[in-house]
Amino acid sequence: METTRRELILMTGAAWLGSPLRADEGKPWHQRLRRVGQVNFNERDPAEADVEAWANYWAEVKVDAVLLNVTGMLAFYPTEVPFHRRSKYLGDRDFFGECCAAAKKRGIRVIGRLSPDLQWEEVIPQRPEWFMRDREGKPVPVFSRAPGLYQTCMFTSYFSEFTPAVMREINARYDVDGLYANGWPNFNVPRCYCDACRRIGEPDSFEYHRRYMDRAIEIWQLYDRIAIEKRPDNLFFGNLGGGVRSGLDLHRLGAVAAWFNADNQGRTGASPQWGAAQQGRVAQAVMQGRTITNVTAAWSTGSPMWRNATKAPAEAETWMAQTVASGMVIWYHWLGAQTGLGEDRRWQDTGRRFLQWHARHDRHFANQRSIANVAIVLGQRTQTFYTPPGEGDAGEEVQGVYYALVENRIPFDFVHEDNLEPEVLRKYDALILPNVAYFSDAQCRRIADYVEAGGSLIATFETSLYDERGRARGDFGLGQVLGIRRAGERQGSRGFQNSFYARIERRHALTEGFEHTNWIAGAEWRVPIHAEGEPVMTVVPPYPAYPTEITYTESMRTSEPAAVARERGPSRLVYLPGDIGRTYWRAGHPDPGGLLANALRWVLRGRTAVEVRGDGLLEMFAWETGPGFAIHLLNYNNPNFHRGSVRRHSPIGAQSVRFLAPEGAKIRKITLLRAEMPVRFRQQGRAVEFTIPRTEDYEVAALETSAAR
Ligand SMILES: [Zn+2]
Repeated sequence: METTRRELILMTGAAWLGSPLRADEGKPWHQRLRRVGQVNFNERDPAEADVEAWANYWAEVKVDAVLLNVTGMLAFYPTEVPFHRRSKYLGDRDFFGECCAAAKKRGIRVIGRLSPDLQWEEVIPQRPEWFMRDREGKPVPVFSRAPGLYQTCMFTSYFSEFTPAVMREINARYDVDGLYANGWPNFNVPRCYCDACRRIGEPDSFEYHRRYMDRAIEIWQLYDRIAIEKRPDNLFFGNLGGGVRSGLDLHRLGAVAAWFNADNQGRTGASPQWGAAQQGRVAQAVMQGRTITNVTAAWSTGSPMWRNATKAPAEAETWMAQTVASGMVIWYHWLGAQTGLGEDRRWQDTGRRFLQWHARHDRHFANQRSIANVAIVLGQRTQTFYTPPGEGDAGEEVQGVYYALVENRIPFDFVHEDNLEPEVLRKYDALILPNVAYFSDAQCRRIADYVEAGGSLIATFETSLYDERGRARGDFGLGQVLGIRRAGERQGSRGFQNSFYARIERRHALTEGFEHTNWIAGAEWRVPIHAEGEPVMTVVPPYPAYPTEITYTESMRTSEPAAVARERGPSRLVYLPGDIGRTYWRAGHPDPGGLLANALRWVLRGRTAVEVRGDGLLEMFAWETGPGFAIHLLNYNNPNFHRGSVRRHSPIGAQSVRFLAPEGAKIRKITLLRAEMPVRFRQQGRAVEFTIPRTEDYEVAALETSAAR
């Protein structure tokens, strides 16, 4: 049996000595959170909201903290800060104060929620400099066309003076544990032409983007200092998310953020079910174990929208299950007390069922680290600035690769492109670079070092063809590592054409499953290359697809490689010149997916952290936990996988699990947490085997160890 790099690390460097019983011990309170609740109050709620009923619900579902509206554009307490307009339904009431006291009486922490991104029209003549401006200099209304509300600019004293004044007033009056800014920072850098921004430059320039991040970090740290003025273990956090497509520099923000809140509340339109799980993987790449919350809307996301109607319970459940599986904290969210406690109470049952179940098994959700042995490199600069040829965006290449990993049941992580230090990479047997087009010289060197140290790679399409600022290199930055040279401009199929085919030149692990054919469907776009050695596959270039009389080609064979596979010492290196992830995602043809799967199996030598065999589409996570290990299976075998919402779960049958425990770890008990029953297992040496008989929506196999010491 071959030993993988991951196992070597588990066995040597950090010899496994068993985990502390409580992984949470000694951590600050916000790293011990499991569940957060929020009824997002509206202006009218202070008129008749039942504060006791509100607090009782959150106590019943065992949340550790609640979000409570302070706001900034509308005060829920008798504020004295100028321009902080009080709710017209507030009367003599201190609504924030009452809610805060009710939560505290029940042992629930309180986070004050601010909205620093909006202010009223009436303020514009008095403080014109606070507002975002369009190219013509006009204030920018809020996108939902709420009458009289305009967007504020982060580069102004609205953020550095007004919002701090509100925060300090809250600190002075109430027993809060932290402060949170909704709607800030923007997932995508906004286009503002106010006086402050005009001095910086064009909003879509690299320079503006850099200054935007500098300012976001400066403001974040200012708010954090204000939070700490109240108590040393208080904190501030902002609104993040955006998944793989986030336009913010998450690496820089992650370095200052004690808490990452992903405002990623649910699915819209034709989006895959994994929206929360994928966000979790992205956030883990920058937070590395620190607090991440993901908001689950209990209300109906998507279009048309009903923000005050309960969404399908099964959809809310899958979102919360993905949140937990990917190591995030659940944040369950309803809008409006009047509707949520009165008109539509269905969301409460969903929350009760899932959150109370979750609370019963808290200790198994204290993750120490992911035990995946493969990672996708998250190329954030590419996602933000690069435009791929053809339709769609840079995120589609990642989606296609993600799909292949999920279909092949391979547990994996994301690593951020600015976090490629040897200590981060050495646990991975292989890295995947899904068209990471923008890549600096330093990043290329990191990858070369990783390969030098025995790591394997899969890279696709234009990976490393540009530097970090998007300037085209003459050749691939990773050309030497991958053994390739660019031979021409990228090419695609135009008009009504066949996309290119990949002709099989010789049998190899990459061609497995492609029997009874001389070629397979390639990809839509490709970079022509030269490569060392005899290629596994070659390109048959695009040719007409209509009319049928001319649907043929004279170039049935070329010498241009369509797939490159080479071994260098213990490293296995695959380069696929097509935009194969994007093509797989868009076309759904099995050939690009099969080629990706073959590449994954070959570079990983068929070995993954956990093997789960059985029918159905499921996404997996594997964690080292306080009590031992936890293997999470998310059942996506559902007719609503590609388009929400899941209206009922479609259970899958028996799954047989094989887990390789670290040397010296003896498993003493395995419990299926969703089924809430123990399971029989066998351990022979390091191999632990058991069967999960049935999975409704989600299952967690919790493996408890008794350390052999
Ligand atoms: Zn501005």
